[in-house]
Amino acid sequence: MKINIRGIYFDNLTLSETVELILARLNKGEQTAVFTPNSEIVQSCIEDNSLYEVINSAEVVCPDGIGVVKAAKILQTPLKGKVAGIEVGERLIASLTDGSKSIFFMGSKPGVAEKAAEELQRKYPGIVVAGTNDGYFKKEGAENDAVIEKINASGADVLFVCLGAPAQEKWIYANRGRLNVTVMLGLGGSLDGYAGVVKRAPAIFIKLGLEWFYRLLCEPWRFKRMLKLPKFYFGTLRFKLTGK
Ligand code: UDP
Repeated sequence: MKINIRGIYFDNLTLSETVELILARLNKGEQTAVFTPNSEIVQSCIEDNSLYEVINSAEVVCPDGIGVVKAAKILQTPLKGKVAGIEVGERLIASLTDGSKSIFFMGSKPGVAEKAAEELQRKYPGIVVAGTNDGYFKKEGAENDAVIEKINASGADVLFVCLGAPAQEKWIYANRGRLNVTVMLGLGGSLDGYAGVVKRAPAIFIKLGLEWFYRLLCEPWRFKRMLKLPKFYFGTLRFKLTGK
């Protein structure tokens, strides 16, 4: 069942249930996009309505942020909890160690996808990496066509798209019809995380719902982007009171 939070339809699932759903669709060969919007992205949709169609086009939409979970509570349609994209990606990989399905990693700076693949293969022996590509190519025309051809030629079943949001969602929306993969996930900076290039917040920050704060400390240039978080929160309070 989907829960409408400010116009985005989220799946109300735990992390395990989300991965089970993705695996079931993968095994049935049903093409599936998985997006994991946080409140920054929902706020972007509110500010640019054309983004709603892109985000809501995914078959699986996970609430990757405490802001979305809080908003669900405010709107009295609670979600089971935050489902972090980076964890969905890793659990999915951990479920593919029998080697029957292969994975393609696309995104991040040159070398990062390969490093992530190496780390994950070490951690989860048996997984099959079909190929990798960095995320710094022109997202249209010949360069884009070449990347799509490379992915299709690899025979991958699962594709990680890590270009940052909303670029990765727009890319999947625009190109999914030409991709032969079954499951494609928009996973932001996850490859940086798997490769160990960027560290995730310590567990205590995650537990306290302060992962965003840790990120702000480490990457203060995110401040302007992060102003969307209080905007979304107070906007949701107003929406609850006034319906607008
Ligand atoms: N990135 C990319 N191509 C681009 C721009 C960005 O592959 O043209 C990558 C960047 O290297 C980083 C990821 O996209 O690995 C964005 O990570 P971030 O943590 O900012 O993701 P977000 O918070 O936007 O989901």
